[in-house]
Amino acid sequence: MKGNDRVLIAGAGPVGCVAALHLSQNGIPVTLLEACAELPEDLRASTFHPPTLDMLDELGVVERLISEGIICPVWQYRDVQDGVIAEWDLGVLGNDTRHPYRVQCEQYKLTRIIVEELARAGSVDVRFQNRVVAAAQDDDGVSVEVEAPGGRETLHGRYLVAADGASSVIRIGQGIGFDGLTFPELWLCASTAYPFDDHFENLAPIAYVAGVDFWFVFVRVPGLWRLLMPSRPGESAEMLVTDESVQQRMQQICPKDGDYDTYHRTAYAVHQRVADTYRKGRIFLAGDSAHINNPLGGMGMNGGIHDAVNLCEKLDGVWHGRTDESELDRYDAQRRPIAIEYVQLATLRNKALLEETDADTRRTKHDELRRTAADPVAARNYLLQSSMIGVLARARELG
Ligand SMILES: Cc1cc2nc3c(=O)[nH]c(=O)nc-3n(C[C@H](O)[C@H](O)[C@H](O)COP(=O)(O)OP(=O)(O)OC[C@H]3O[C@@H](n4cnc5c(N)ncnc54)[C@H](O)[C@@H]3O)c2cc1C
Repeated sequence: MKGNDRVLIAGAGPVGCVAALHLSQNGIPVTLLEACAELPEDLRASTFHPPTLDMLDELGVVERLISEGIICPVWQYRDVQDGVIAEWDLGVLGNDTRHPYRVQCEQYKLTRIIVEELARAGSVDVRFQNRVVAAAQDDDGVSVEVEAPGGRETLHGRYLVAADGASSVIRIGQGIGFDGLTFPELWLCASTAYPFDDHFENLAPIAYVAGVDFWFVFVRVPGLWRLLMPSRPGESAEMLVTDESVQQRMQQICPKDGDYDTYHRTAYAVHQRVADTYRKGRIFLAGDSAHINNPLGGMGMNGGIHDAVNLCEKLDGVWHGRTDESELDRYDAQRRPIAIEYVQLATLRNKALLEETDADTRRTKHDELRRTAADPVAARNYLLQSSMIGVLARARELG
């Protein structure tokens, strides 16, 4: 296969952008292919965990991200009736990370910052309206077929990073399975500028709130509160985003005179899936193309960025002749078990905790959380895991 002088990346989401920046900063030529005409303004991820901030710092983009977001050292688990059950202060991780806090910032701001940085450095061939429709490989390299404004085109490279999201055509085309489940309910995400912090005592910028027969999540982003709530049986996506549905839910959460002004509302299906392999020869899956999970805990994008950094460190070694090709197998060996053994289980546990309806079980679980939060050693361990620092250390032990 000719023209194998570069790495091709499909998808300019957070994962593809981080991979492009990392590789280009290490002197590796990159072509970044994005299906859309411009960077999608995705209202999805907003939580950046401490180790992700450390990685973005290494790449020189964290200061700007922080300046466009909100620093949140504290987050909470709350009960509708009882108020705060457990408050977690990331400040205790001061010796474990340079960023002992979460940053709340919309994921599209990261992709914009990175693409601007790539343009400034002139280091990456970024192509919008280039939708990858097929990929092939042989011993020498990879080729991708793209649909571009001028028609179909074939591009060549030495490796291909499939960061083309949950419906990855590359994963599907390579016949890589994506086992798991899709939840029967849909989730509604709606945002409003209403000052919930004036109405809930001591409300942290991220708060998971459990009620007896409903639950929701408060997430602060600059200028807005986002609310995340599940659908009820039988509600379709169309029903979920109607004024009636959104207003009724918000009034249930915080009754007030008059309707809420909302800035956006989206209904989406939620899945828990992991790809059968993250590597097939010269093709690597990273981010949502490799794993998806519910957003409770904020681990999808963060885990995807951790994939990108892990993979790019290995590609850097191989590209510059410091390590041989077998090093690339360690990407799958280190990252896939983390998705299965940690992220899937943690996000399912977070969901089960919010959904618990049995009064005794709820009380037991809440007492356990209170005890953990009150014990400095247990609280630090809890935060090391929930902020994903622990699993990065675990990944280094694998493979
Ligand atoms: C409501 C909600 C809240 C969330 N909150 C969080 C959170 O707080 N923290 C967190 O860590 N995660 C969160 N997530 C998950 C997070 O949004 C995803 O994990 C993250 O977007 C994955 O990034 P990615 O780059 O792998 O894929 P994507 O963001 O899906 O990006 C894929 C890119 O590839 C492009 N593309 C697709 N197909 C092709 C093709 N064939 N050719 C070329 N380009 C293509 C797309 O246009 C897109 O730009 C949340 C998700 C939801 C739905």
